[in-house]
Amino acid sequence: MSEKMRAFVMHGIGKVGFMEKPVPEPGPTGAIVKTTQALVCTSDTHTVGGAIGERHDLTLGHEAVGVVAKLGREVQGIKEGDRVAVNAITPCYTCMNCLRGYPSQCQESLGGWKFANTKDGVFAPYFHVNNAAANLAPIPEAVSDAMAVYTADMMSTGFIAAEHANIPIGGTVAIFAQGPVGLMATAGARLLGAGLVIAVENVPRRQELARHFGADEVINFETQDAVQAIMDLTHGAGVDAAIEALGSQSTFENCVKVTRPGGTISNVGYHGHGEYVKIPRLAWGVGMSDQSIRTALCPGGKERMQRLLRLLETGRVDPTPLTTHTFAFDDLETAFHMMATKADGMIKPLIGFDASGVV
Ligand SMILES: [Zn+2]
Ligand SMILES: [Zn+2]
Repeated sequence: MSEKMRAFVMHGIGKVGFMEKPVPEPGPTGAIVKTTQALVCTSDTHTVGGAIGERHDLTLGHEAVGVVAKLGREVQGIKEGDRVAVNAITPCYTCMNCLRGYPSQCQESLGGWKFANTKDGVFAPYFHVNNAAANLAPIPEAVSDAMAVYTADMMSTGFIAAEHANIPIGGTVAIFAQGPVGLMATAGARLLGAGLVIAVENVPRRQELARHFGADEVINFETQDAVQAIMDLTHGAGVDAAIEALGSQSTFENCVKVTRPGGTISNVGYHGHGEYVKIPRLAWGVGMSDQSIRTALCPGGKERMQRLLRLLETGRVDPTPLTTHTFAFDDLETAFHMMATKADGMIKPLIGFDASGVV
């Protein structure tokens, strides 16, 4: 392929737009995927805001599905023409951190995150996937692309928040913030057998979706003291687990305050500001409360993607109510700016691709 295509890029901090790029080549172990559907993520807007430093003409986007257009000669277990899902995180599965069982930390802290960080992302008619045999998962026939695209980040990140929370069957969990990741954490907590799911959120549409995805109680932190309300709902005991799905000092603190001794605080929020995240000393039992604090970056890989796709195939969960807006690829810039401010109640904008981006 020596064709050119239009890609949606970060020109530099605060600057986005379309530019022409060559259609990539797979290399021996990679694949080229022809994009069909993608989602804009709040972390794309953090990146353009400068959260991970300067980037020059880097293609944005890390949530997409498509069809295998070209495969490297060494790639086995997948064929050209297959519909495939790809996680936002694409580890190498050969380095020491991957072999230790922490592929999201491939080679270095957060190193599994390559799309729109250390390589071109998915906001283009074609994108390159490294280590394709381990990172591509075929999409079952019964699952649409518009549904499967949620496995890339929202489901994987939301569900790991619930998995790391160690919720005992019938146990109690509080989930702080009901953005798309928090909503999927709510769905994950229900799937894992939580007996009482308490969501903390102030936006009415998100409160409704929290109930839809499995919250038994929704606390509006603007009209109620969230910590007190959670302590009251658990008769003063605190929850077995608290999930931080926002990335702010105050919600992290509240997670520690509402978690019972021996319980788990599971953080998936992106703490984008300040030098430190502080732990409230007394709620932490002055360092001796037996509480655990877990962290995670969106787990990827074919095996996990197949399990997430199975949940869609069997109807255990349907993430598509998160899609509040749809756009053509040509209108991605509008979607991107709306996502930055969550204009018009945006939760996730779905981007549809056709051949128009190939020039
Ligand atoms: Zn994302
Ligand atoms: Zn690795």
